[in-house]
Amino acid sequence: MIAENLRAVRQNIVRACEAVGRDPSEVTLIAVSKTKPVSMLMEAYEADARIFGENRVQEIMDKYPQLPGDIEWHMIGHLQRNKVKYIIDKASMIHSVDSLRLAETIEEEAAAHQLRMPVLVEVNVAEEESKFGLRVSEVLPFVETLSRYPHLEVRGLMTIAPFVEDPEENREIFRQLKKLSVDIDAKNINNISMNVLSMGMTGDYEVAVQEGATMVRVGTGIFGERNR
Ligand SMILES: *Cc1c(COP(=O)(O)O)cnc(C)c1O
Repeated sequence: MIAENLRAVRQNIVRACEAVGRDPSEVTLIAVSKTKPVSMLMEAYEADARIFGENRVQEIMDKYPQLPGDIEWHMIGHLQRNKVKYIIDKASMIHSVDSLRLAETIEEEAAAHQLRMPVLVEVNVAEEESKFGLRVSEVLPFVETLSRYPHLEVRGLMTIAPFVEDPEENREIFRQLKKLSVDIDAKNINNISMNVLSMGMTGDYEVAVQEGATMVRVGTGIFGERNR
């Protein structure tokens, strides 16, 4: 089932790219495996999934030693500062940088481990009360500050769009994030790249791809419904 789901999602990404004349190789699929057992991750691995997204530090720590070493683990959920130290040498990317204090902690831990951590800035484009992330207007000054952190590699932006019935309702959100990334990129800020746009989940990843997503985070569409 998981292999079939993966095939279908990959095909949908290709179709979404074709619809707007994008090269499908520009889009990376992140298999969001949160709450799912290692056996299901292995099934996805055997169907060539190599990038897994998790939203809890404890779960990355549990799964990391049980799965093959060529997997990339992406931290996509809200990250508490006191837990950064547990994943600093395990995560390949942190999608959810949403405060200066968190960025500072990642900078310190990355320096201690002599590595540069690829990060995305989480943007709450829709300004939903319940969501983490910066407002659109806060992002430019924020990345200007982050550009001075030598152990952070700012690669782009991430958003979690609202939960909607019709994915078309989120098209404008994705457009806004794309526009923001283009505007920031045009400033040519030292040490800041805007190559990654992490947007789109099971309900709306095709629209996100049409609007320029370079990473889509799909959980339910690959692994099925979650119980929590
Ligand atoms: C759970 C989660 C996803 C995947 O959600 P689905 O609707 O199951 O595809 C994507 N991004 C984040 C940040 C998540 O927490």
